[in-house]
Amino acid sequence: MRMSKLTEQLSGSVIREMYNEALKMEDTISFTVGEPDFVTPEPIIAEACSQWKKGLTHYTPNVGIPELREAIARYHAADLAPDPDGEIMISCGATEGIQMALFTLVDPGDEVIVVTPTWPNYFGQLGMCGARCKIVEAREENGFIPDPDEIRAAISPKTKAIILNSPSNPTGAVIDKDSCMRIAEILLDSDLYIISDEIYSRLVYDEEPYTSMASFEPLRERMVYISGFSKMFAMTGWRLGYAIAPPAIIKNMTKLHENGASCLPAPSQMAAAYGLVHCQKEIERMRESYQKRRDLICDLIGTVPGVSIRKPKGAFYAFVNAKELTQAAGMTSKELCMDLLRQTGVVTVPGSGFGACGEGYIRITYATSEKNIVEGMERIREYARRF
Ligand code: PMP
Repeated sequence: MRMSKLTEQLSGSVIREMYNEALKMEDTISFTVGEPDFVTPEPIIAEACSQWKKGLTHYTPNVGIPELREAIARYHAADLAPDPDGEIMISCGATEGIQMALFTLVDPGDEVIVVTPTWPNYFGQLGMCGARCKIVEAREENGFIPDPDEIRAAISPKTKAIILNSPSNPTGAVIDKDSCMRIAEILLDSDLYIISDEIYSRLVYDEEPYTSMASFEPLRERMVYISGFSKMFAMTGWRLGYAIAPPAIIKNMTKLHENGASCLPAPSQMAAAYGLVHCQKEIERMRESYQKRRDLICDLIGTVPGVSIRKPKGAFYAFVNAKELTQAAGMTSKELCMDLLRQTGVVTVPGSGFGACGEGYIRITYATSEKNIVEGMERIREYARRF
């Protein structure tokens, strides 16, 4: 039996590989999957339950229910000010929104610029479209901010779009205003589309100013802004994201969504709308707690031999430079993460899974309890001492 070339070639991400390996073991401490350890705020759960009980158990509009689109439009009134009827589509997580945006904007053979280290799903998503990935490497010495000149140099006549993600998974980098502006100018000059994945925009620390690519107004006619509820409200399992884009793009994305996922449950959409209006305090509380955990984990990383970290400014990942440690151990970062897991039960993700330039790094997700952070880092320190 022959299956499609596409699915035969598509590989899963190394994040899930590590996660699945850890499932076979006991007494593990997980620093892998990028998801909040918090349960969704109670009022959001209560709202969903009450909507289910009211009998909202039917299909919903493909583009999303009006209540949620209107709540998103109000939430973004000061930046994107989208029209709820035509410029917003609710997606099955930000993941599906990005995929629908790519299917809408690129044809097989087109090139799309991706800044690495990056969330590995972009590679798979580009593969699903038959698009080619043009990599621009962001370096640690520049705080993992991509160099706008390197973005310009990567553009060829085949380049159709760029995917930008700030704050970044896996580096926690927050692209500064000046770099954002220079990138925006390049994109305008070159007629490229931008998919701006800003799903971590609410997780920025130390009052670091945050610049959305949406603040460059002329860019908006070629931009798909992506966000969602997974990280903001600790709603990963609800699978709710959204895209904001010009009406022609949203129209085509919705055609794809109709044929793929069709629509999303009304109660979860009603609950997300409720959260946007009533649960801003809960978001702030979670953000403060991630900031404390970030400080704790960075201090503890400083006590581990052979590794170093520059404090990440956003998201909830520490992208740890383990070049000395991997060298001393004579292992690649993937071998080291596997060995660390088998010897200590601590689950991390090798940096190479986020692009070739991530080799020598390890990603540690700190969206876990302080107790886990302390215990996990203690095990890592003991492990590193052996080399
Ligand atoms: N973008 C980035 C950068 C992510 O890290 C993630 C999740 N890890 C997503 C998008 C997808 O989020 P979701 O589909 O849960 O909304």
